[in-house]
Amino acid sequence: MSDFGTPGRSDSKGFCLVLSAPSGTGKTTVGELLTAEDSTIVRSVSMTTRSMRPNEQDGVDYRFVSADEFKAKIRQGAFLEWAEVYDGVLYGTPRDTVERVIRSGDVALLVIDVQGGRAVKAIFPEAVLVFLIPPSMDCLSRRLKQRGLETDDQIHRRLIKARTEMKYLPAYDYGVENDDGKQQLTVDAIRGIITAERRRISRWEPQ
Ligand code: 5GP
Repeated sequence: MSDFGTPGRSDSKGFCLVLSAPSGTGKTTVGELLTAEDSTIVRSVSMTTRSMRPNEQDGVDYRFVSADEFKAKIRQGAFLEWAEVYDGVLYGTPRDTVERVIRSGDVALLVIDVQGGRAVKAIFPEAVLVFLIPPSMDCLSRRLKQRGLETDDQIHRRLIKARTEMKYLPAYDYGVENDDGKQQLTVDAIRGIITAERRRISRWEPQ
């Protein structure tokens, strides 16, 4: 340890890492792998008014709430950001968890849409925004169909939305391609970004 403090984990300030991508790009799995491998990366569990899917768990994947409960949380100022992502479905990032994680010097991982990413950057300019890039629109379409969670019409709308989402790329700090079957490479690339970001001089907290 240097007299000037050690760049990196022990003396660096926490920050928000936003992970966004068109749906079907695989960001949920990438987020799970990132947090499973490193206890200093803590995923924020969003609140949503969407109904729970069979493979999901309340409080783990999302906190599933009614529209009334969600609106009450908006009034209480409980969200760092919130957005209507699909067809009247609301999603929001709870402020308290994110602030606690950052205060403790860890990385708060937010797997959220592009509107959310932009909002977080406005609140925390030091947040790091990573965009996961799908190999192609065809691949995205195939993955959504294989997932079998939505109707053809819903998939069609998600693909239209994906094209719009790709336009937000310039607002992001980093772009990482997520190729089929190469998730570990994607995770390693994001870990590399985190390692570098922890060493930013502006994040040092010399002892
Ligand atoms: P899904 O319903 O497929 O889990 O998620 C739909 C979209 O909502 C995804 O792009 C996901 O990243 C986004 N999302 C999840 N939680 C939040 C959140 O708290 N805020 C925002 N803005 N988007 C979110």
